Amino acid sequence: MIKGLHHVTAMTGNIRKNIRFYTEILGLQFVKKTVNYDSPDIWHFYFGDATGSPGSVITFFPFQGMPRGQSGVGSTNVTGFSVGLDSLDFWKKRLKEYQVDFRGPFHRFDEHYYSLSDLDGMELELVASPNDLRQGLETPGIRAEDAIKGFSHIELTCSIADKTAFFMTNVMEHHRLKEENGRIRLYSGEALPGHFVDLVSRPSLPLHKGGIGTVHHVAFSTADTETQKTLRDRIIKAGIQVSPMQDRQYFQSIYFREPGGILFEIATEGPGFLVDETPETLGQSLKLPSWLEAERETIEARLPSLD
Ligand code: ZN
Repeated sequence: MIKGLHHVTAMTGNIRKNIRFYTEILGLQFVKKTVNYDSPDIWHFYFGDATGSPGSVITFFPFQGMPRGQSGVGSTNVTGFSVGLDSLDFWKKRLKEYQVDFRGPFHRFDEHYYSLSDLDGMELELVASPNDLRQGLETPGIRAEDAIKGFSHIELTCSIADKTAFFMTNVMEHHRLKEENGRIRLYSGEALPGHFVDLVSRPSLPLHKGGIGTVHHVAFSTADTETQKTLRDRIIKAGIQVSPMQDRQYFQSIYFREPGGILFEIATEGPGFLVDETPETLGQSLKLPSWLEAERETIEARLPSLD
């Protein structure tokens, strides 16, 4: 019932730099421009592949003036993007050209990758993935074969990785794929990029502190609200508190913390981002859910400008 990664949601301190980094430099599609439904004076941006497929979407809440967070135990510390097997040289050149610091190439499992930080200092990786058949989006300066195809993996920093691994395999339908230098790689659905969850134990690190440049939560994908309900019941049975289902317009969501404290979401695959825009107009104008549409004028006036 868990089919892989759905999206990653993080916090940025700079609206314009954030949009430029993920669209212009990394070449992702601006999939949706909306607001935080729980606090509509805050933007919510979605970036992903051409249509925002589950497993490709990174979303941001821009909080201007919020203090920087710090990565540590109990958080999603790295978001890995998957690129073509022969694309690392292209990305090396591109990151240099845009003066983005990066490190590597490193080698792990059977993959080469670069480590980099986004403009808020959030850790990312570009992984040259074998067996990733997903289509990348051609954008100015990026050929389709070099483009980001979606997520490769996320890395969770745990105090005790085995505790999270037990929950992931027994409740969240993940399977152990391999282990290297204390890193446990799990997958759900298929053993392919976009499905990987890496667990690392770092008991000596301090607890993570939420804020700018950190991941707020990671979402896993499930088919529909029926499979979501089954999963919800199972998680509650495992002794974990789960939120009621929330309507996120493009998917339905439930939220909970895994036993190590990391915030998880389970989101439905549909209806998806084409529910209120065409592929050609995705991300171009402010979209609001029906229950906020009546307040559009007030909301628009309060939102910080994007120009
Ligand atoms: Zn989410």
